[in-house]
Amino acid sequence: MTARILDGTALSASVRERLAVRAAALKARGITPCLAVILVGEDPASSVYVRNKVNACEKAGLRSLQDIYPAEVDPALVLARIAELNEDPAVHGILVQLPLPKQFDSAAVLEAIAPEKDVDGFHAENVGALMQGAPRFIPCTPYGVMEMLKSQNVTLKGAEAVIVGRSNIVGKPMAMLLLAADCTVTVCHSRTRDLKFHTRRADILVAAIGKAKMITGDMIKPGATVIDVGMNRLPAEQGGKLCGDVDFESAKEVAGLITPVPGGVGPMTITMLLANTIEAAERIL
Ligand code: NDP
Repeated sequence: MTARILDGTALSASVRERLAVRAAALKARGITPCLAVILVGEDPASSVYVRNKVNACEKAGLRSLQDIYPAEVDPALVLARIAELNEDPAVHGILVQLPLPKQFDSAAVLEAIAPEKDVDGFHAENVGALMQGAPRFIPCTPYGVMEMLKSQNVTLKGAEAVIVGRSNIVGKPMAMLLLAADCTVTVCHSRTRDLKFHTRRADILVAAIGKAKMITGDMIKPGATVIDVGMNRLPAEQGGKLCGDVDFESAKEVAGLITPVPGGVGPMTITMLLANTIEAAERIL
């Protein structure tokens, strides 16, 4: 069997069309949704992510502000800028690109963002709201994954969902969302004893590990839905290409539905950031 491909680029395009209509409706009422992005340092991957986010805003009719600081900046300066953006009524969403350099207390920076502008959904108040089943901002990557599952009518109720990875930005919120959708959820991590035992039980398998091609076809239940969140750059001697945490070639022979990398979860993550920013602007009407 060869899996159907869940095309995140195509789904993104249709979701972004609907978002552009909402952005235009806000504009007609004198409000241009605005996302402020803060980038610290010159990490090439982070710079690309920020550029993609800013470009996506422009295309969808949102305004964006960019503050770029050198890696050695005093954290107090960044915190002061966040305080300013919190107070600015023309700014609806604030995002600090992670990871931050060593001198930063990342948690303190995320807590400094006003919860009602925290479009990444990383503020403790928003994490708590998600945990209680009443989310205000859903973290963009797991939000995008849920939209992908919904778009394909994947059965969630009662499904065995296995997530590999327990980070605050992907694995944990993903678990909360799948649980809220009535899946039976298992979260695996680097100390999980028999990873394959768990992954082979999964009707829905989400890989958010950060290890290129770690999930191979023999670890997948035939017909499963496989969502590959991973974004790994292969070494130059292997072609330097972007690849996921799933070994796509072997996995697609076993899975029923699979997301590619690139062109899977990545574009949907940015799309849901736009959705959260528009939502934040709509809430102040
Ligand atoms: P983290 O490094 O924060 O978390 C990785 C998780 O994987 C950890 O929970 C870790 O376990 C677990 N893990 C590591 N090695 C193993 C192993 N051998 N077996 C089982 N579990 C393991 O990563 P993120 O969650 O931030 O990101 C994961 C991947 O997703 C990365 O490739 C990242 O680039 C990508 N990503 C993609 C996005 C997109 O838009 N497509 C957005 C965000 C991330 P432990 O907790 O025990 O250390």
